[in-house]
Amino acid sequence: MKNIFENTKSIWVKYSDYEIKKADNGVDYITPTKDATPTMYKPFDVSEQLVVGAINIGKMLIAKEDEKKIDKAIMKFVRDFGLLGIMTAIPTTPSFMDYEAVYLTKNPFIEDESMNTFGYLGYFFPFEKPELSKKGKESRWDVGGDVGSMALALTLSNEPMAFALCLQKLYAEPLDWIKMQFKDWAFTFITSTLFYEDKATLTDEQKQLYQRSILVYDGIAPTYHIALKEDKPVLVWDFYSLSNVIRLMFSTSLTDEKNPLRLCKHCQKVYIASRPNAVFCSTQCKNRYNVYKTRKKNKD
Ligand SMILES: [Zn+2]
Repeated sequence: MKNIFENTKSIWVKYSDYEIKKADNGVDYITPTKDATPTMYKPFDVSEQLVVGAINIGKMLIAKEDEKKIDKAIMKFVRDFGLLGIMTAIPTTPSFMDYEAVYLTKNPFIEDESMNTFGYLGYFFPFEKPELSKKGKESRWDVGGDVGSMALALTLSNEPMAFALCLQKLYAEPLDWIKMQFKDWAFTFITSTLFYEDKATLTDEQKQLYQRSILVYDGIAPTYHIALKEDKPVLVWDFYSLSNVIRLMFSTSLTDEKNPLRLCKHCQKVYIASRPNAVFCSTQCKNRYNVYKTRKKNKD
C-alpha cells in the first residue's frame, strides 16, 4: 500500500534537560529546566524508537516495577523526544486559542467536556504563565523569556498559537498523566498480542471482551490539507502533538503485517520485527535464549 503518511509537516521540540517539579497544588510536573535549550526535530524520522520506547515504559508501569526505575525511564524518554503535547492532543481543534472555550475529546485526564480557554491552559502552565491576553476571540501573546524562546516562537508564528505554547519552556505536563498515557498504549498492545496468542483457547465471551477493550482506543484522526507541489497535488498531514504522532505510528505498526510490533521471546521487551515470523528482538537475545534452553535441557 502507498504510504499515505509520506508527507507530514510535523516537527517537535525537545529541550536539553528536564526536571520533575512540584506545583503549589501538590502535583508533580515534568518541565524543561531553567537553562535548558530547545532543539527542533522531526518525530516521523524516529517513529520506531518513539513507539517502542513508549510501550516499554507502559509495560514497566503495568508490571508495577520500581517507581524510581520508571521515573528514570520516563525522564530519559522526555530528554530524547520532549514532552507528549497533551495540551494540543485532547481538544477538538489545535486552534482552540481562537475561541473562548475549549472542547475536549474523550480522554483519560479531564472529565469536563468543555471549559474556559484560560482555565484549560492552567493545567499546563502551573509555574509561570505565558503573557497572554484575550479580547473576545482574539488572543495576544507577548513572547518573553530568553533568546531561544523568542526565536522558537518566531519560527512557529504561522502555526496555531496553542502549538507554539506547547513547545515553550514554561510548558509542563503532570507526571501522572504521562504515566497514564504510556500505560494506556501498553495495555492496548498487550490486549492485541494476547488475543492472537490465546485465540485458540478463548471462549466467545472472552474474545468479545478483548475486542471491546480495544475499542476504547479511539484517538482523534490527524487533520490534513492538500498542497500543490511542483508536479502534482499531495496530501499533507498536520500533527500538533507528539502524543498524536505516537498514537498513529503505534496503530500503524500494530496492524503492519510485514514489520509488526512484537514482544521478544527472551527479554520480553517490545520491538519492531524485521520480518513477520521473528520472535527475538536481537541475535543476542536469540543466542541467550538458546543457551538458556540447552542448559535447562542438560539439567533435566
Ligand atoms: Zn530481546
